[in-house]
Amino acid sequence: MIQRRKTRQVKVGNVLIGGDAPVSVQSMTSGFTYEIDKCVAEINKLAGGGADIVRVAVPERKDTEALKEILKQVKVPIVADVHFHFQRALEAVEAGVHKIRLNPGNIQDKAQVEKVIDACKERGIPIRVGVNEGSIVERKDKQKRLKELGGVFSNNKHGHLLAIMIAKLEEYLDIFYARNFYDITISAKSIDPALVVDAYAEISKRFDHPLHLGVTHAGPKETGTIRSVVPLGHLLMNGIGDTIRISYANDPIYEVQDGLELLYILGLRPRVGAELIGCPTCGRIQVDLFTLIQNVNKALQKEITLPIKVAVMGCIVNGPGECEGADVAIFAGDKRGIIYVQGQKVANVPEAQILETLLAETKKLQEQVLAGTAKLGEKVVDILPPDPLGELGSGVKKIEEEKAAKGIQLPVMKV
Ligand code: SF4
Repeated sequence: MIQRRKTRQVKVGNVLIGGDAPVSVQSMTSGFTYEIDKCVAEINKLAGGGADIVRVAVPERKDTEALKEILKQVKVPIVADVHFHFQRALEAVEAGVHKIRLNPGNIQDKAQVEKVIDACKERGIPIRVGVNEGSIVERKDKQKRLKELGGVFSNNKHGHLLAIMIAKLEEYLDIFYARNFYDITISAKSIDPALVVDAYAEISKRFDHPLHLGVTHAGPKETGTIRSVVPLGHLLMNGIGDTIRISYANDPIYEVQDGLELLYILGLRPRVGAELIGCPTCGRIQVDLFTLIQNVNKALQKEITLPIKVAVMGCIVNGPGECEGADVAIFAGDKRGIIYVQGQKVANVPEAQILETLLAETKKLQEQVLAGTAKLGEKVVDILPPDPLGELGSGVKKIEEEKAAKGIQLPVMKV
């Protein structure tokens, strides 16, 4: 069990962040906000995929003007991402958004920040203060800032950047505290996963506001996954982080899917939908397991809403052990597969029928669970490895040939 850091709590529409609220998943639209229909479609797709909160960019007046209509057509809380122009924040608040994101790196005028704080306070809207490493302009003065901080971070690889980020935050938050405004979340993103870990760890010691975790500009999903999940997983496992956004240069639905999966595997959110376990395959494989796993995954996402654990294993070597905790399992053999439901063998089918049989059995189990006649995670009987030479047909040909050469007759294969 991960012990989460105690923080204040803020309310973003109907979603709570921090305190005892579950870690939420955020994403951001990638189209123009002023293109209302497309923006609404994107928000609803992300919400349908499990996003708890969606952020939209509002660089221009026409974007904040679109917000009122967008808000009427979506159910998920919306955050307005504001840079450079504090007026966009005021317009977004006026339009009814649920949260504002401000960047201390590019909205620095105290009077302007105060105006945004006052508008948010009046409407009960929280503000995220996001100090992205890339947008902090004081980097020119890093040595001076480092000195100011008494060289606190001088032994750290990222000392100067960390010092600047912390100093910027402290300085900025003083404006908020002076106006008795505490509905704040903090983010401190960087492209460097090690800096992300250090920055959030340091911030978590100094502020009790909920933390929005993220790695900025993580790049394409193919490499961005590792760049994001390593630091975020590390922080979350240490109880740090109250809401997350994974950032990819790709369809943002992947950010939601991967964010949720990270929280599921860490036990920070109860899983929605099936959990798929699949073997990586090796030289023992006798079916097209890669295609099978892809197809099983798609089918499960479409048809299964309960957290049923499904294991797809290439052979019986590791199959029984790895499938022990699964509700539904298949071990493949020579162009066929044996399917188990909660430890009990229910079918032995040729490769072409594995997908449909596995899905039918999983759906049947889902119905039984919904009807209260079965319980997930409960094995009815122990999974017994099938006979590889009989039921799965593995190696039969070779053995037949060997035995035939010696004049020995084999028993008929059981299927
Ligand atoms: S389950 Fe079998 S096929 Fe899959 S990786 Fe393990 S030994 Fe190889």
